[in-house]
Amino acid sequence: QVKERGRGDFCFFSPEMNARLMERRAMEADLRLALAEGHLRLHYQPQVALPSGRVIGAEALLRWTRPGHGNVPPDRFIGVAEETGLIAPIGAWALHEACREAAGWPEHLGVAVNVSAVQFRLPGLYEAVASALKASGLQPSRLELEITEGVLLNDTDDTLAMLNRLHALGVKIAMDDFGTGYSSLGYLQKFTFDKIKIDRSFIQNLGNDANSAAIVRAVVGITRSLGVRANAEGVENAGQADMLVAEGCGEVQGYHYGRPMPPGDFARLVAG
Ligand code: C2E
Ligand code: MG
Ligand code: MG
Ligand code: MG
Repeated sequence: QVKERGRGDFCFFSPEMNARLMERRAMEADLRLALAEGHLRLHYQPQVALPSGRVIGAEALLRWTRPGHGNVPPDRFIGVAEETGLIAPIGAWALHEACREAAGWPEHLGVAVNVSAVQFRLPGLYEAVASALKASGLQPSRLELEITEGVLLNDTDDTLAMLNRLHALGVKIAMDDFGTGYSSLGYLQKFTFDKIKIDRSFIQNLGNDANSAAIVRAVVGITRSLGVRANAEGVENAGQADMLVAEGCGEVQGYHYGRPMPPGDFARLVAG
């Protein structure tokens, strides 16, 4: 199958590429519908302080049950949402929803919302954050935006200006998945993050790999020198938790402490 797009400019589609394209289009249509009809959900995973073990907040994570397909993990649909620009309204919805929910929790608890790199560059993010705060009445310092290194990859001046504008609103900014991108240390020099989340891949191998343990120790050391909070992601067992306490990591998240759960379950968890 060959499509002519212009003189001497051809585009080849194999049957597999065509099927993939069709599937992405179908997913886009279903995602648009899910947003319009209110079928997207947020689950909340506890964030826990060490060594006390107290819940200090939650990370909001998107959940989508796609008709005829079951639960589709965010890693599978965020990309489509980014390609189509749908990530902007979906992200705005998530901000509003998470702030509204968190406003009903005890006041010492915060909520973290993920912001993808594409979402960060599309217009309307600042307005979405400001209006989510206003509509919910949530104290801005209780909202934390989690961004990945992809956000800082290019457009440095614009990106820093935006990060500073968001900071000026009073919200916190966390660097997510730290250690998996490029030149992470350069970003730490340019912007003062409130929190650094050490990627799950380093935590997973804590018990059985000396390199991972050394990296976690070094990153915790850097955060301490910078006066930034550290969160270790993906803590799955007591052995990992003990090592993180020993390293002086102040905050954890992972299945060992709690899986992402529906809002009602989280509200009950922190109520008593
Ligand atoms: P993330 O922000 O790094 O979120 C952490 C992921 O690790 C979540 O996967 C969470 O369920 C999972 N996780 C937490 N504890 C453990 C553990 O102990 N073991 C293991 N194996 N996994 C654990 P999830 O919910 O599938 O989300 C995947 C990614 O999708 C997130 O990574 C984030 O990048 C993105 N995402 C999720 N919700 C949103 C959203 O509302 N907006 C945007 N832009 N991205 C989102
Ligand atoms: Mg995150
Ligand atoms: Mg992460
Ligand atoms: Mg991630």
